[in-house]
Amino acid sequence: KGAGKNTWRVYSPDQTMMSELVDRWNWSDRIQTALDKGLFELHFQGIYEASRQQLTHLEALLRMRDPDDSSRMIPPGHFIAIAEKTGKIVEIDRWVIRHVITMLAAQPGLPPIAVNLSGRSFDDPAMSEFIARELQTNQIDPARLYVEVTETAAVSDLQDAEQFIDALRRAGCHVCLDDFGAGFSSFTYLKHLKADVLKIDGQFVRNLAQDADSQVFVQGMVAMAHGLGKLTVAEFVEDRATLEMLINFGVDMVQGYYLDQPQANHPALIRVKQT
Ligand code: C2E
Ligand code: MG
Ligand code: MG
Ligand code: MG
Repeated sequence: KGAGKNTWRVYSPDQTMMSELVDRWNWSDRIQTALDKGLFELHFQGIYEASRQQLTHLEALLRMRDPDDSSRMIPPGHFIAIAEKTGKIVEIDRWVIRHVITMLAAQPGLPPIAVNLSGRSFDDPAMSEFIARELQTNQIDPARLYVEVTETAAVSDLQDAEQFIDALRRAGCHVCLDDFGAGFSSFTYLKHLKADVLKIDGQFVRNLAQDADSQVFVQGMVAMAHGLGKLTVAEFVEDRATLEMLINFGVDMVQGYYLDQPQANHPALIRVKQT
């Protein structure tokens, strides 16, 4: 198709597979270099209480400085999926947790911080122990750490995910179901994974004011979450009209470009530094 209409190409699985493998190899190489040379960085975006837009916590979002061009920042969409395939994601997730816990330990006045964890990390029972141990040795109140988990193919075993989340909640962390509604088994997730926050996927929030179907979905998800005793976050809030509609629908927290952008030096971090 890429070669245009009316063009015949002999399908060559070997070539496609080869280029995919080379691509994956290049990226695994870059990921390893980034880990070795400390090229990963976190940006922070605020999550706000909806009606008054007061900051409740920050979400840490990973970026990688291009090993070949230090002026370029690579967003996670380029390397997370590959890191999940190669297994490197577990090392990345540990780096993120350690980094955030170090920040929380250094500055007791910091708001709570949410980290994103790949489903690949749940398979590893050592991961929840790692988090609990890091919190304990750094004497961090576990309620200052939010863990966001996404319904992805990387969650190979629902039972593992269930145990992982239960362990985190027993340790005292908050757990959010990220991108809720985007996957194929959202209800199964909701039934089995005992999260305390449900994060409504951005596809239902974007253009909310113009999209009657999305309004029905969002209201339904809020009712369901509240019925189950969970709080809701809407991501991708990009304008005032969307924010107002979300407040009317009873959404608890909001996040998006209308409120702030992910940034290395988020004002909520600076303010604490100065005091
Ligand atoms: P996510 O956790 O659902 O994060 C929200 C994404 O939406 C972020 O993209 C954020 O920059 C973007 N966003 C926030 N507000 C708006 C908005 O108003 N409009 C639009 N169009 N976008 C908005 P980002 O930083 O590129 O991250 C993409 C995904 O990569 C994340 O989705 C998360 O699943 C994953 N990710 C990010 N950091 C990490 C990490 O440290 N570890 C792991 N395992 N995954 C991560
Ligand atoms: Mg997230
Ligand atoms: Mg999300
Ligand atoms: Mg998302």
